[in-house]
Amino acid sequence: MIGIVIVSHSAALAEAAVQLAHQMVQGDRPQIVTAAGAGSDADGAPILGTDATRVAAAVDELAADGAEGVLLLMDLGSAVLSSELALELRSSDVPVRLAAAPFVEGLLAATVAAAGGASLDAVAAEASSALAAKASQLGDAEAPAEAPASTDEDAIVRRVTLRNRLGIHARPASVIAGIVGPADAQVTARRLPHGVPVQAGSMTGLLSLGAAGGDEVEFRASGPEAASVLDAIDGLVADGFGEDDAGPRPAAEAAVVTDVGPASVADGLLHGRGVSGGLAAAPVVRLGAPVPEPEAGAPLDAGARETEAARIGPAASAVADGLRSRARLAAGEAAAILEATALIALDPELASTAETSVRERGLDAARAVWEAAAGYEQLLASLGGRMAERASDIRDVRDRIVATLQGLEPPGIPQRDDPFVLVARDLAPADTVTLSGSGCVALVTELGGPTSHTAIIARALGLPAVVGAAGATGLAESSVVVVDGSAGTIDPHPDAAELERARARVEVVAFDGAGVTADGIRIPLLANVGSAADAEAGAAAHAEGVGLFRTEFCFLDRRTAPGVDEQEQAYAAVIAPFDGRKVVVRTLDAGADKPLPFANDDEEENPALGVRGLRVARRNPALLDDQLAALARATTASAAEIQVMAPMVATVDEARSFAERCRAAGLPTVGVMIETPSAALLAAEILDVVDFVSLGTNDLTQYTMAADRLLSELGELGDTWQPAVLRLIGVVGAAGAKAGKAVGVCGEAGGDPELAPVLVGLGATSLSMSPRALGPVAARLARLTLADCRRAAEAAAASETAAAARAAAAAVLADAEAASRGRLRVRPGGDTGVA
Ligand code: PEP
Ligand code: MG
Repeated sequence: MIGIVIVSHSAALAEAAVQLAHQMVQGDRPQIVTAAGAGSDADGAPILGTDATRVAAAVDELAADGAEGVLLLMDLGSAVLSSELALELRSSDVPVRLAAAPFVEGLLAATVAAAGGASLDAVAAEASSALAAKASQLGDAEAPAEAPASTDEDAIVRRVTLRNRLGIHARPASVIAGIVGPADAQVTARRLPHGVPVQAGSMTGLLSLGAAGGDEVEFRASGPEAASVLDAIDGLVADGFGEDDAGPRPAAEAAVVTDVGPASVADGLLHGRGVSGGLAAAPVVRLGAPVPEPEAGAPLDAGARETEAARIGPAASAVADGLRSRARLAAGEAAAILEATALIALDPELASTAETSVRERGLDAARAVWEAAAGYEQLLASLGGRMAERASDIRDVRDRIVATLQGLEPPGIPQRDDPFVLVARDLAPADTVTLSGSGCVALVTELGGPTSHTAIIARALGLPAVVGAAGATGLAESSVVVVDGSAGTIDPHPDAAELERARARVEVVAFDGAGVTADGIRIPLLANVGSAADAEAGAAAHAEGVGLFRTEFCFLDRRTAPGVDEQEQAYAAVIAPFDGRKVVVRTLDAGADKPLPFANDDEEENPALGVRGLRVARRNPALLDDQLAALARATTASAAEIQVMAPMVATVDEARSFAERCRAAGLPTVGVMIETPSAALLAAEILDVVDFVSLGTNDLTQYTMAADRLLSELGELGDTWQPAVLRLIGVVGAAGAKAGKAVGVCGEAGGDPELAPVLVGLGATSLSMSPRALGPVAARLARLTLADCRRAAEAAAASETAAAARAAAAAVLADAEAASRGRLRVRPGGDTGVA
């Protein structure tokens, strides 16, 4: 067993901490030796301090008693120095680790882990992450240690409802970890419905669940002792962990324990949120295995350190080169994300911090990179907010460099010749962008929201995708499943007929280049683009123009603002494939889910409600002026019909002043996006001062429903079918019709063949979407008249709920399509004249 040395300035503090730790463990305990205080003064009062020789003696004592390794836990300041010195002074050669851990929590976690028979590295890791539970409970940025997704299709899954008031607090956590640790079973636990899984052998992990009385927790176990471990946990839970405040013991028939079998499939289907439509059938493939943390072995000989340090730079460059060559094959946002990740790999600080650890501490290169990345991660996590979210990019780069140094397969999307459904807990940006050409035909993730990068990229690639599908990682590897990206379901046991239906639906629906209803009303169908490659794909798919050019996507990786010349070139490349056609360019939409450090680097409490979009121009007018100047030049140089619009407008004054500035810059056709409820309600007045509006339904839904568009948990609120959103769209449509001005839709709703007719019925005069959606949307509109669309819109907007709105529109449209069968299609000619 691993022994523990407590190094503290105060003997009293050390003793109290040890007492607390002992209470956490029932059976065999690890040996804990204290090296605390610096003796006592002449009056017998204790002197606070630490002494390296006592620490060394404590290590030797544990070694002599047969400890397999020794963990040093220190309180503060000179305790750390004394411990480092003790490593030189000790006479034994037992492996020793110094834990950068919180003193009390670290000791408790280490004691439980050591009692469970964990290795020195595992005990040290447990201690080091011991603050995560408290941090996550207090809502700090630090994330709980997340367990890798179980890959065992025979895993037993059980759900329990906690009966004691405090749920899994320190003592129950230590008891569960004490059962799981020594058992021959791999067990994870997660709080339902949306918690992330943690190792159930980790006291810290269990505490980070934050599970209280009444909460439901899912345990997933595999291995020879899986069943007996789960039985033991069931018994503890049913007993309320022996705590007096536990509710009445459940009757046998109303057991708190639900055995849900190998995967959480309620009605035979797994449910999530469909974020990219379509059906696909293929075998399940899970995301590449995570890269394990490299061991911190014995220090390298002084003579070997320089050579080892010299491996880091080339490995980082190789990773950056790989990311960049994939960026060249990718398009739009995908390419931008890969480029940005490559920049992290090339960060000179990361490499030099790691090299210093090799030279000064004798770490091997892989371990040094791992630790250097951890330092950056912590720094970002401590900054909180959006910066904290970049921590996953650092981990992604770290894993790739470590894999390169160790000659391992890089983590991420497997490349297969045969089609497959990719299943993952979540996808890193660098994962999603390698999907193209990988053989992946559908995506399923346990996390993610409807407008997360996973969803946007899935739509751009035309892959059916379901996010927020709890339990998906329990799907058996290689089993054939059917993914329905429209319904948001995964069928793990499809029958032959369903497989046939899915395979028949995989073919791409072509677009002939003219959006038109059955009665000949022209509804131009346009492309959403963010790069020259996107624009080429849009033109190749016969888009009638560009309805949304997200200019910020050209500069996502920039720390400094691009100059006018650079902007002009970037815009000209995107506009070029649409010579002679309409291109609606949106000015920079910096902020919230699209951070641009050069536009707004502030840490904001509510970035979605902060200085984003057009609001950036309040504090930095030159940024907007430069962009307008670049666009004016690109307009002069191009044969495209360029129109400009502003994002995140809330008032008529904002719209007026934007229009004035555009016109002064030489850009005559000006519009604004309708993304806020305020702008929707003021659409008539706004249309008095601009030439057109475009509905950003992603944000309009987010702001109307007050539901973060990135949160899958709030998925049913972030649904454009919500009647409140439809009614606001109707207000805008009516204002456009009255003013005789164009009302476009450029949010994701515009590319949804179910919703598109409703949007047209509400007054949309053009729809803009990812190029792959053009064919299905065109085919739908071609079967319906404008009157059909209006009836569907009326029925949907009059509904009480999103589900009722969907059903009401579907019923009207199905009747209309049935009636229209056999009717001759009217040729284009009834152009509304406002597209
Ligand atoms: C929208 O909000 O609907 C929109 C098109 O803008 P973005 O998704 O870029 O915020
Ligand atoms: Mg928006």
